[in-house]
Amino acid sequence: MTGAPRLWGEDVDHAPSATALGAMGRIVGAAHLHTGLADRLACSRDRLPLATFAVRSARLPGTLPCAVVRPGSHEEIAALLRCARAHRLPIVPYGAGSGVLGGAIPLAHEVVLDLKRLNRITDLNEIDGTVTVQCGMNGGKFEAELNARGWTSGHLPQSLHMSTVGGWAACRGAGQASSRYGKIEDMVLGLRAVLPDGNTLDVRPVARRAAGPSVKDIFVGSEGVFGIITEVTLRIWRLPEHTRGVVLALPTLDAGWTALREIMQSELRPAVVRLYDEVESKARTDGIAAFEAKPFLCMLVFSGMKRLAELETELALDIVARHGGEPADDGPYHHWVDSRYRSYSPQWQARGHYMDTIEITGAWSALPAMYAQMRAAALALHPAVHFGAHWSHVYPEGACQYMTVRLPPMDEAEALALHDRAWCEIQSMTLALGGSVSHHHGVGAFRNAWLRTELNAGLDLLQRLKDGLDPDNLVNPGKLGLRAAPGARSLRPD
Ligand SMILES: Cc1cc2nc3c(=O)[nH]c(=O)nc-3n(C[C@H](O)[C@H](O)[C@H](O)COP(=O)(O)OP(=O)(O)OC[C@H]3O[C@@H](n4cnc5c(N)ncnc54)[C@H](O)[C@@H]3O)c2cc1C
Repeated sequence: MTGAPRLWGEDVDHAPSATALGAMGRIVGAAHLHTGLADRLACSRDRLPLATFAVRSARLPGTLPCAVVRPGSHEEIAALLRCARAHRLPIVPYGAGSGVLGGAIPLAHEVVLDLKRLNRITDLNEIDGTVTVQCGMNGGKFEAELNARGWTSGHLPQSLHMSTVGGWAACRGAGQASSRYGKIEDMVLGLRAVLPDGNTLDVRPVARRAAGPSVKDIFVGSEGVFGIITEVTLRIWRLPEHTRGVVLALPTLDAGWTALREIMQSELRPAVVRLYDEVESKARTDGIAAFEAKPFLCMLVFSGMKRLAELETELALDIVARHGGEPADDGPYHHWVDSRYRSYSPQWQARGHYMDTIEITGAWSALPAMYAQMRAAALALHPAVHFGAHWSHVYPEGACQYMTVRLPPMDEAEALALHDRAWCEIQSMTLALGGSVSHHHGVGAFRNAWLRTELNAGLDLLQRLKDGLDPDNLVNPGKLGLRAAPGARSLRPD
């Protein structure tokens, strides 16, 4: 091969007028406006696996942003959005870029608004049990600061150290302790946002309100299309006095699902629940005798006041025992504790595999069919495909089914076609079985095709809201199933 690989090609020279960039530079200060290739490249993608496949082959998944701007305050963001509107310059909000659906990928050379300079806790109210935090604060630093003062947010995603608090709210995310503390939408009490016209929205934090539909919830999960969340106020919790983790071996998946459903419907609230299918169980229980006869691994963690947590554990163990489960060696629990914020995906991707994860929500009554159909569809893709699933966010009504699909190194065109087929089949099955296409990763641009069936007339409602707030379609266009900018790149062959 001669010459350098064609990584960004024609995108390099795309630039808005010097007047528009000059105006943005005056708002944030020249040091925080970046037009160099390295900065633009760094913000040209998030963790969408398809983006990793593209970069591995020296391609960009979307387009190169024409500039990266790093504002330092709510007021600067408001001024930037006014400037963007005046110059008709589209923008993409960027937290830490850990999203896995392409939500932060510029599809038409937008300016990236990198929010990481807004990185402080601004208030911790120990009487109300609330914290107010700027949107760009790193999740790991946020949790560490809370812990140092005796509190936890209870929101502990696997991506804790590589995501921002604003990104959690924007994507409607879930942490590993969601069965006890809820998802982020259960924690956000109030927020501050800049609307596409530069005006400020303040949703004052209160315990509950009956003042019309929840405006807060228009923004939680909005993935940047309705404006920029600059600050959130979250409910927080005292660090638990006691934590106990147990490892259980179960004879069948059905026994596992039934036990978890009964635990949640009995109003027990485990901090962590993890049930693994046979493939994922095997990878974690090799050599442990209890799993030879009962191959399905389940982990439960109860935390809180010691007497209560111990009692909840015993009650849950009774339920599990009624379904043939038995306590096993606690090695897998300690391994999970040690590795809970680690991802193994980069290692597989670096070795040329095509790995992706798909998380959906299903009712308990639908989960057996969902699992069986999706597993069969994945295994039919290729003789060497890896498919594994686990259930780690559970509710009285249903659970999140989290699946890993991994194809071996192969011809890229063939792999991309199989990868897309896996997504199409799994998302269609989810909808046909009454589930939701996403439990916590969100929509980004990659899931656009399934939003019409997911939301039906609700998608028109969101589009009208978008058109009203952002008539020129300048704020994260083409995301959340909404209209793309003319000439925008698509992440999927729709
Ligand atoms: C290894 C790995 C593990 C993961 N584990 C979990 C998990 O356990 N639970 C979970 O929920 N997710 C998980 N994710 C997905 C991801 O970390 C979350 O979606 C996270 O909330 C994204 O935060 P971010 O700051 O990185 O946002 P980004 O990726 O930067 O942005 C995501 C979207 O939100 C928008 N956005 C970001 N900040 C703002 C803001 N302040 N205002 C308006 N819009 C904004 C962006 O434009 C984009 O559309 C995981 C990802 C990886 C790579």
